[in-house]
Amino acid sequence: MAPELDREGRHPSELVAKAWDVGLMNLTVPEAYGGGGLGVFEECLVAEEFAAACAGVTTTLMANALALTPIVLAGTHAQKEAFLSPLCAGPNLASFCLTEPQAGSDVAGMRTTYRREGDEYIIHGAKQWITNAGESSLYVVFATKDPNLRHKGISAFVVPADTPGLSFGKKEDKMGHRASTTRSVIFEDVRVPAFNRLGEEGEGWMIAMRTLDKSRPGIAAGRGHCAGRPAGSVGIQPTARPVWPAHCQLPSRSVHAG
Ligand SMILES: Cc1cc2nc3c(=O)[nH]c(=O)nc-3n(C[C@H](O)[C@H](O)[C@H](O)COP(=O)(O)OP(=O)(O)OC[C@H]3O[C@@H](n4cnc5c(N)ncnc54)[C@H](O)[C@@H]3O)c2cc1C
Repeated sequence: MAPELDREGRHPSELVAKAWDVGLMNLTVPEAYGGGGLGVFEECLVAEEFAAACAGVTTTLMANALALTPIVLAGTHAQKEAFLSPLCAGPNLASFCLTEPQAGSDVAGMRTTYRREGDEYIIHGAKQWITNAGESSLYVVFATKDPNLRHKGISAFVVPADTPGLSFGKKEDKMGHRASTTRSVIFEDVRVPAFNRLGEEGEGWMIAMRTLDKSRPGIAAGRGHCAGRPAGSVGIQPTARPVWPAHCQLPSRSVHAG
């Protein structure tokens, strides 16, 4: 199925539903809010097994942990009940919106801004390379009060998918990884209630970094195994193997040689 998903660039909705059904989604969300109540190590084991079959499907499924960890780490009990419980009650997806075209590793260089107006926050800007964008039910977004404040200006917000002003860019074409949907996310004066802010204002950078600390091992475990080899290896993803010789104009035997 992996080559088919990659050829067609199809979002693997049926596999998301199956994974949720057998309890292989939202592994690190506490059981009290509908998650698996497991740790990062167990998540890595599951990521390895998924990735041995399809890297794109792995990214689709594991991105929920990335998106929901800020709520697990910084949300109040009321926020966890409002956002985690409904999401984990079905085969729903969530997106983590941190990266911008000019702010990848340099998170403090983000330009998506927020301002407060009464009991609401207004978010304006755009995020890039966001996994499951357009498929997710909610978006956890990091925005700054003032780009000059760098990491001290950043706060985190939960934005439900049906919020006016939220839109998405075109689906990125990623050879060997097309089963994972990646799009830009555009916030045009998106309004959310103050309730949707995670932690205090200015705590967003630390929430993002603590989230990456917890979620990157799962991503790395998947990447290490996606060549069908033991974790930690580097290779060509199985889904890419049928297509990359033509792409690179190499004889196919070169693909299997190394
Ligand atoms: C398939 C895919 C899915 C993704 N999904 C998401 C998502 O769901 N949400 C999200 O927010 N983002 C997502 N991203 C973005 C991803 O997190 C970024 O690509 C990553 O943060 C790196 O940013 P960048 O690509 O801009 O690279 P850069 O920051 O430009 O880095 C390029 C290279 O330069 C190195 N480098 C950078 N700065 C320094 C420095 N100061 N000193 C030395 N070396 C440096 C880096 O280590 C790297 O090797 C996704 C990306 C991909 C490819």
